[in-house]
Amino acid sequence: AVMVGRRVRRRRGWRRVVRVLEEVEDGCATTVGRLRQVVDAMAVEMHAGLASEGGSKLKMLLTYVHNLPTGNERGTYYALDLGGTNFRVLRIHLEGQRSAVIQHDLDRQPIPQNLMTSTSEELFDFIATSLKEFVEKEESLSETSQVKRRELGFTFSFPVKQTSSSSGNLIKWTKGFYVEDMVGRDVSECLQQAISRKGLDMRVAVLINDTVGTLALGHYHDEDTVAAVVFGTGTNACYLERTDAIIKCQGLLTTSGSTVVNMEWGNFWSSHLPRTSYDIDLDSDSPNPNDQGFEKMISGMYLGDIVRRVILQMSQESDVFGPVSSKLHVPFILRTPLMAAMHEDDSPNLKEVARILEDTLEISNVPRHIRKLVVKICDVVTHRAARLAAAGIVGILKKIGRDGSSGIRSMKTKSVSQNKMRRTVVAVEGSLYTNYTMFREYMNEAIGEILGDEIAPYVIIKVTEDGSGIGAAILAASHSSSSSVDGG
Ligand code: BGC
Repeated sequence: AVMVGRRVRRRRGWRRVVRVLEEVEDGCATTVGRLRQVVDAMAVEMHAGLASEGGSKLKMLLTYVHNLPTGNERGTYYALDLGGTNFRVLRIHLEGQRSAVIQHDLDRQPIPQNLMTSTSEELFDFIATSLKEFVEKEESLSETSQVKRRELGFTFSFPVKQTSSSSGNLIKWTKGFYVEDMVGRDVSECLQQAISRKGLDMRVAVLINDTVGTLALGHYHDEDTVAAVVFGTGTNACYLERTDAIIKCQGLLTTSGSTVVNMEWGNFWSSHLPRTSYDIDLDSDSPNPNDQGFEKMISGMYLGDIVRRVILQMSQESDVFGPVSSKLHVPFILRTPLMAAMHEDDSPNLKEVARILEDTLEISNVPRHIRKLVVKICDVVTHRAARLAAAGIVGILKKIGRDGSSGIRSMKTKSVSQNKMRRTVVAVEGSLYTNYTMFREYMNEAIGEILGDEIAPYVIIKVTEDGSGIGAAILAASHSSSSSVDGG
């Protein structure tokens, strides 16, 4: 009788977890129809954000970067990249020919957790110290003579209201950073002061978002690059917009007739987004509820935590994971790289899944069919994330008339190529995209699905490497006071 009772309970447990899984699958469904609604909503919100200040949850921030690098930039420049899990310092030598080797040296280190919620002075002193050490090391090794005046491209990957191409005020923090006294302050000034305190002779030549660095590097290598997207700890996009489309700052004149807009799409919201109770709980438990809704469904900081929440629910509703592990209650304990490792475990017995469940969540002796269930949860969560990301990208293409919709569909012409479609490159960067194969594949597949066979070949998703840093240095070169740029 005991045996039978246990078996029945097990089976009931199994039925319950299957029900939870089905609910999650339904809640995360992203049919092409649904994705098209997201595409349209993205384009509509972009218009609204450009029409008036506060017109949309999309801030559509001006970057004051009106000209993208040409490839002719020369000289030695520094870059500092702050905004993800690691912070990086770079030194780059540009030879003035797009294809010429860019010599670059890099120092990468994790940001101490305590500094992410400390004071601005502590945070920037730490950064300036590392910068100074890097400069001293590099210049003692370098054979080339020291650059006249050191110039720095500062990548600060948070929403900033720029006041010029080299200054701007922090609007709010995202991605778990919270240095209260920084909000509203000029980020460049904080860095410049810390640099002076350390006695380093260096000038902040440009202040940019990481997406803008990615766009700059993408464009440096390929002039058809019109937008850039980052999928890392957070997510965001920027693109080239015609100045006359930016109603909220009429009269903005640039020689190029266009300018780069930082969308801050992490904050995008639409009722068409497929949302589950897990997303709602994740949001309300976060330090920034009602904020960064799109980011919370897509980016590396959050995906693992959605999976943790689903496993917790299953564990509470059944005994398939044994007694509820206390680790399942720890926010962000299941980081996205671990989730990816489970998702992509191709060993016959799902050894990696078992190991991560054991080591990270302290759940042991999980039978194979339950391990498979865990893989399935990861799949559902990443599938949704990647497809929403794809819809976001197509939304940008739609806004700038590169999704094919203004070409063939409205005019009865024979072929696309004779008509409006042009080669369109979107630069992409971030560990979620580069390190998580399933995310990448699902995203690319969905872009093809949404655009259709005729248009998709014109849209190229190109990975840039270290664009958020290298791009900043290249922009520092093109915005440099002692500009050694030919052309530009
Ligand atoms: C920030 C953006 C940034 C993105 C990717 C988001 O949380 O708000 O400014 O570009 O993360 O790093």
